[in-house]
Amino acid sequence: MTKWLLILIMSLAITSPVLSNEVNVDSLKATLTELSLDDAARIQPLVALANFYIYIDPVKTASYATQALAISSIDDDHFNKAKLLRLLGQAQMYQGLNQEAFTHLNQAINSSNNSKDVHLISVANRAMGVFYELIIDHDNAVKYYIEALKFAKLSDQKEDLAMVYNNLGNVLNSQNDYANAAKYFEKSIIINTELNDIAMKMNASVGLSVSFLKSGSPLKAQELLENVLSNRSYISDFSFSEASVNLAHVYKSLKEFSAAKSLYNFVINDKKGSAYPPAVASAYLGLADVLIQTNQIKAAIDLYQQGIIKVKNKISVESEMALYENLAKLELSQENFEAASAVQTEYIKRRNQIQPLIQKGLVQKLENQLQMERDYIKLQDELLISERDSRHASMYLFAVIIISLITLVLFLILMIRKQVISRLEATNKTLKKAAETDHLTGIGNRRFLDHKISTFKGQDIQMAFLLIDVDHFKDINDTFGHDAGDKVLVAIAENINRLCRKDDLFARIGGEEFVILTMNSDEKSACYFAERVRSSIEVMARPFESKVTASIGVAFGNMNNANYDELYKKADIALYSAKDKGRNKVLLFTQ
Ligand code: GH3
Ligand code: MG
Ligand code: MG
Repeated sequence: MTKWLLILIMSLAITSPVLSNEVNVDSLKATLTELSLDDAARIQPLVALANFYIYIDPVKTASYATQALAISSIDDDHFNKAKLLRLLGQAQMYQGLNQEAFTHLNQAINSSNNSKDVHLISVANRAMGVFYELIIDHDNAVKYYIEALKFAKLSDQKEDLAMVYNNLGNVLNSQNDYANAAKYFEKSIIINTELNDIAMKMNASVGLSVSFLKSGSPLKAQELLENVLSNRSYISDFSFSEASVNLAHVYKSLKEFSAAKSLYNFVINDKKGSAYPPAVASAYLGLADVLIQTNQIKAAIDLYQQGIIKVKNKISVESEMALYENLAKLELSQENFEAASAVQTEYIKRRNQIQPLIQKGLVQKLENQLQMERDYIKLQDELLISERDSRHASMYLFAVIIISLITLVLFLILMIRKQVISRLEATNKTLKKAAETDHLTGIGNRRFLDHKISTFKGQDIQMAFLLIDVDHFKDINDTFGHDAGDKVLVAIAENINRLCRKDDLFARIGGEEFVILTMNSDEKSACYFAERVRSSIEVMARPFESKVTASIGVAFGNMNNANYDELYKKADIALYSAKDKGRNKVLLFTQ
């Protein structure tokens, strides 16, 4: 172990290796001096330089990026702008300029979205994820890493994907989800092995070692970290310091305190200032913990205080807070109340300085929540409105149904009424007909005749009135009985009916008296018709070897002035004469 450490410490004397991207800084700077300050050709060298210095000297990166942005302020140059804004934001983030970093990283995301370059979009989102991780807002960090992952998967640059996996692994380690963190680091290691990118592979290994260490497998972590450190020439000072402090943690957990102390001190005494600040802060925390465990409380307190001074305003917010927290607790445990209170006050003050951005994250979260609630309420409103609409619709439907029903009922009532009326009319007709019909013979009666004549009243119609009276009918009744008399009457009626034309009116007006009214006939044809009637009655009873005859009185009149009674009187006078002259005769009324 000591031997290995010796080799390690020795290797630190060797100058820091050149970072992975090979850039001829001098020739770039020479190019810049040749070009005038507003020459757009300066942009490419400025971008290259800004990129080169990002992990070495973020102040320089910020300066180059700002110069380039000043020239490339043309709106449509999204590609360079996205790159430069991201570098500027990242450089400011590494200087602890949180507010500026946040602004520029946001702008970088917008520009990269405009550029539609999936690689740039992924990198910009990843940088924002790192930013949130640094201000201890892991939830937002994960959110941006997921976005970065989405675009990295679309990109043909596999290293993007590996880097996002590394970032996700780191943030999950911070959230104590070591199993999932390990999965992402392993994915990253596979990609970097394929790409033969040893530096990135080592980065992933450092992350994976943290997952192992924190999940209680220090030996697995140790194996990985020793492998990382033996690849010194491939990895950056940042990764190297991180691997070193993690290995020190491994030793500490294995209670190999002196080995741990050596490595912690190595990271703390970073002469070049190129160590990863969170690693330095972590070294202070670890070393102080070793001192506490070996009962050197005073020394631990001093170390915390030194640590705070050393990492203040570096990208180690989380570790800085841990230093304050541990220091305050330690002072309290020593019953140094005033000191504990002073540290706690300082801690709160520092926390509040960083807080605004965390609070901004909180405000954003609250706003998102509010927006969600607003959307929910809006949705509910819409639901209510559509419900109300459908309720209106169903009310309309209901009304339509009711109106239809009412209409139907009214229609049915009308129909029934009409039927009732027509039935009544039919009944009336039947009654009327019955009232105008002679029940014995089925021909019209006196009322029938009255009614018909009244319809001709006032019209210029010549009318013949034939009054027929059966001769000696009393004898028939007396001889054969009343029923036989009836039968004779029926037979006479049928007989005369057969002789009548369609327009003639025929009725039985009394016991054995009949009347025929014929329209528009002259005296001759009327008498001729009466003669036919008389003879047909005479002939009718012959087969029965009995004698039935009738006498007929004929009268004439115009419906303009004539009426039934007048015609009847005249016909009756003629009839009386026929009877008088021996019966079975036709006589025409004459003045
Ligand atoms: P004349 O030749 O003078 O007319 O003699 P007549 O017997 O017909 O005389 P009259 O007119 O006085 O008699 C009519 C008779 O007809 C009297 C009545 O008994 C009979 N009679 C009236 N109505 C009916 C009836 O509905 N059925 C029957 N069987 N007889 C009736
Ligand atoms: Mg009579
Ligand atoms: Mg008679």
